[in-house]
Amino acid sequence: MKVIKNALQMQKIALKHIKNGDEIGLIPTMGALHDGHVSLIVKSEKNDDITIVSIFVNPTQFGPNEDYLKYPRTVQKDLEICRKNHVNYVFMPSVNDMFPVDYKTFVEVKALQDILCGKFRINHFRGVATVVTKLFNISCADRGYFGMKDFQQLKIIEKMIRDLNFRTKIVPCPIVREKSGLAISSRNSYLSVEEKKASLNISRILREASESFRDKNLNFVRKNAINKLKRIRGSRVDYAEVVNFIDLSPADKDTKKAVFAVAVWIGKTRLIDNVIMTK
Ligand code: AMP
Repeated sequence: MKVIKNALQMQKIALKHIKNGDEIGLIPTMGALHDGHVSLIVKSEKNDDITIVSIFVNPTQFGPNEDYLKYPRTVQKDLEICRKNHVNYVFMPSVNDMFPVDYKTFVEVKALQDILCGKFRINHFRGVATVVTKLFNISCADRGYFGMKDFQQLKIIEKMIRDLNFRTKIVPCPIVREKSGLAISSRNSYLSVEEKKASLNISRILREASESFRDKNLNFVRKNAINKLKRIRGSRVDYAEVVNFIDLSPADKDTKKAVFAVAVWIGKTRLIDNVIMTK
């Protein structure tokens, strides 16, 4: 496994592999790796000749009052996880290499970037789309692996790929959960024991909502879930919305496949989760 810290060097290596006929898989991450990330790595190992994991806490996707500075950074542990899972390259650029002071170019996916999390995290998805564009260009990826935990992010990247004619194929990967049901996230490390206990309710409430989706009125399902989310100790609900699986448009009574997506604060930690609901 090689650790590459420079974008130009990473791109040169990737181009050599492409010339050799290798297929490249990229797993973009912000580090603090866990079993959710590992599931993406394992999938790439099955599909690709070369697996690249990028570790970059991307400042352009954090708002001024968000957790950029305190976001968990566990580089040595991350490298061990990558080594153990047969990653070929870990790409760990500096902020200055990716976004030098005179940086000017941004990618926006209109409309999709402004709903759900985008209402609460202004410019977040602009930062995501921009860094993923750069990472795809640097890594020459044939496939990019994205978790369905960040469902809106996945949909935005898929749209960007189509709109901008990227050759990279997007591989969606299911949410990896703890035994308790809690969606694994790097941000879970912010939770106290009590908060963690409270946060377990989120996945339970989503599961119950999905079970009642088939035969209950959509508005009832949503309102019922919101009431339960609000009753979680120390919670504040940013949003809880049922959207169409295909394009994130609002779901209605005729929607056959929907996603119930929520963002809930537990104390000072913002957690997102979602469940697919089918009729
Ligand atoms: P992050 O490091 O949080 O930016 O996540 C990097 C990638 O891992 C994204 O595509 C996430 O959707 C994915 N990911 C994070 N947590 C999970 C999880 N619990 N299950 C599946 N994928 C995940």
